Amino acid sequence: MRTVTLIPGDGIGPEISQSVVKIFEAAKVPIKFEIVEAGAKVMDQENTPLPQGVLDSIQKNKVALKGPITTPIGSGFRSVNVALRQYFDLYANVRPVKSIKGVPSRYEEVDLIIVRENTEDLYAGIEHKIGEVAAESIKVITKKASDRIAKYAFTLANQQQREKVTAVHKANIMKLSDGLFLDCVRDIREQYPDIEYDEQIVDAMCMNLVLHPESSDVLVMGNLYGDILSDLCAGFVGGLGLIPGANIGEEIAIFEAVHGSAPSIAGCNQANPTALIQSAIMMLRHLNLLNEANRIEAALYAVYEQGHDLTKDLGGTATTTQFTDALIAKL
Ligand code: NAD
Repeated sequence: MRTVTLIPGDGIGPEISQSVVKIFEAAKVPIKFEIVEAGAKVMDQENTPLPQGVLDSIQKNKVALKGPITTPIGSGFRSVNVALRQYFDLYANVRPVKSIKGVPSRYEEVDLIIVRENTEDLYAGIEHKIGEVAAESIKVITKKASDRIAKYAFTLANQQQREKVTAVHKANIMKLSDGLFLDCVRDIREQYPDIEYDEQIVDAMCMNLVLHPESSDVLVMGNLYGDILSDLCAGFVGGLGLIPGANIGEEIAIFEAVHGSAPSIAGCNQANPTALIQSAIMMLRHLNLLNEANRIEAALYAVYEQGHDLTKDLGGTATTTQFTDALIAKL
C-alpha cells in the first residue's frame, strides 16, 4: 500500500477531495491517504497557511493530491499554491485539455497539453511599491528553468507520441526575457528532430486557439501565459470543472485541478469533482497504477457518455455526491 499526501484545501476542496477518496475506496486503489491541512483554515492556529507538517508529509511521501486553496487578493499571505511549487521546485505544470464525449461544449476533438514553466516569470514574487504612485513586478526568466521546461515538453511529446510542440511567447516585445526563453526552446528542439516545432506570439495563439483548438498539440510557455491559457483552453471542453493538472519536480509531484476554490458554491454539494478526479488519474499513472487509472477513467467517460448525471456547471442537476455515486456504479 503506497501512502500519498492529501491536502483537501478549502472552498469546494473538501467536497471534491471526498469524492476522490470515495472513488479510490470503491475501486480498491492500493493507496493510503495521509491527510494534512493548509490554507486559511489553519492560519489562526498555526500562524502560517503552510505549516511545516504539510511540507514534511509531502517530502516523505513524494506524491500529493491537493484540493484548491483560496489566496487573499492584495494583502494577506502569499499563495500557498505558488509557495508549494517553489519550495519543492515543481518546475513543470502539465495541464491536459481533452474533449470528453457527452460533455456539452463548443468544440469536439480537442486534445492538447499545456506545459507551463512553474517557478519563475512574474510569479517569482519580486515586487515592490514606489511610494504610493507606482508598483513594479519583476519578470524573471532564466536559462536553467527555460531549458528544463523545454526538455520536459519535448520528452512528454515523445513519450505520448505527440506530433508537435509549439512555443508560446511575446519575444517581439519582451526581447530579453521572452527572447531568452525562446532561444532555449530552439536549442532544445534540435535534440528532437522527429517532433514538429513551431512558435506563436501569445496573442495570436489565443486567436488561433479559439478558431481551431483541435489543431494544437503540446504548448510550452512561461508561467503567466500558461496560467491564462489554461483557463481559456478549459472553456473549449466544458469549463474549469473538468481540467486536471500536475506539478512535477525531479523528485516530488503534486496533482491538483486547474480551478480554484470556487467560494460561491462551496459547501453546496454542487461542485463538479471531475477536474480533481482526472488529476487523481494522472497521479495513478505517475505511480504506475495503470489498471486503476484506466478503470476509473473508463467509468468517468461512461458517466458522461450516458449523459444523465451532469453537474450544474454543465447544465445538469446532479450533486457532487450523485455524480460520484454514478461513477462508482460504472466501475
Ligand atoms: P475558480 O476556479 O475558483 O472559479 C471560477 C469559476 O469557475 C467560478 O464561477 C466557479 O464557481 C467555477 N468553478 C470552478 N471550479 C468548479 C468546479 N469544480 N465545479 C463547478 N464550478 C467550478 O476561480 P476564482 O474564483 O478566480 O478563484 C477563487 C479562489 O481560488 C481565489 O482565492 C484564487 O486565488 C484561488 N485559486 C486557487 C487555485 C489552486 O488552489 N491551485 C487555482 C486557482 C485559483
